[in-house]
Amino acid sequence: MSEYFHSTYQTTIAGKVSCSGVGLHSGKMVNMKLYPTEADTGIQFIRLDVEEEKSVIPAHYTNVSGTMLGTTIANEHGVSVSTVEHLMAALWGMGVDNVIIALDGGEVPIMDGSSEPFVFLIECAGIRKLEARRDIIEILKPVTVKEGRSASTIRPFDGFSLNLTIDYPDTGIPRQQAVYDFGSRSFKNALCRARTFGFASDVEKLQAQGLARGGSLDNAIVISDKRVLNAGGLRYNDEFVRHKALDCVGDFFLSGLRIRGSVSTTRPGHGINNKLLHALFANSKAWRIASSSVVSQDTPFVPAHQAA
Ligand SMILES: [Zn+2]
Repeated sequence: MSEYFHSTYQTTIAGKVSCSGVGLHSGKMVNMKLYPTEADTGIQFIRLDVEEEKSVIPAHYTNVSGTMLGTTIANEHGVSVSTVEHLMAALWGMGVDNVIIALDGGEVPIMDGSSEPFVFLIECAGIRKLEARRDIIEILKPVTVKEGRSASTIRPFDGFSLNLTIDYPDTGIPRQQAVYDFGSRSFKNALCRARTFGFASDVEKLQAQGLARGGSLDNAIVISDKRVLNAGGLRYNDEFVRHKALDCVGDFFLSGLRIRGSVSTTRPGHGINNKLLHALFANSKAWRIASSSVVSQDTPFVPAHQAA
């Protein structure tokens, strides 16, 4: 567990760090630098390849402009950054509240399709506690949203937990259900290495349309004829549901603060994750801003398990 995950005080990274990699959408190399910043800044992206006055994109759910093949955020000038969720998940899991992320392109590098390279980057930078107290979002009443065959409910809980079910009939991905309680187990151990996944048939279609140009076996689990094509196989036997959990924590951190509550979700995705935040914040009786304090009891980690 990162010692800063349950911090009562806000944090930032202790030093500047950088990495480079291809963007999933463009296939082009992107250079990314993370900078320490002051309390109450939150997570902010800056595009170095556009005019300075149009370059800042706060990582906030109200700025989500696209949810296909990842979460894209955009500012009022239409300047966007795609695939923010795996980096957001790493910042959440490592207990980082404030950071400036500078990019010379429109995407966060996809790296290996997981959050592990970003966790490594944050560990290289180190974390610094700031003097300001950390606020959190406390859930007061359940809120449910539905979208097609997907459904998600957020409800009050003393801590943060996720209960997910994924279901991709006739694809080779087994129906998987898992509960992650972050009271005592860490994002780093349970989720950060889980990679994104896709179907070879979809990849071909997308690339024919000029999309997912950077997608490859180096940054995704690729499934064809109900089989995993990657030579090394899976990193966890339930890597699919773990990656969906990783996506959820990244998307929910776009609330701007850490959430005290639990989320149950069936067939989650970036679209319904964003819809849940919109529905939650539209109902002023369902949440409040509260001061962070150490979770009252360290609830045991419930291991992931596979359903039939
Ligand atoms: Zn993902």
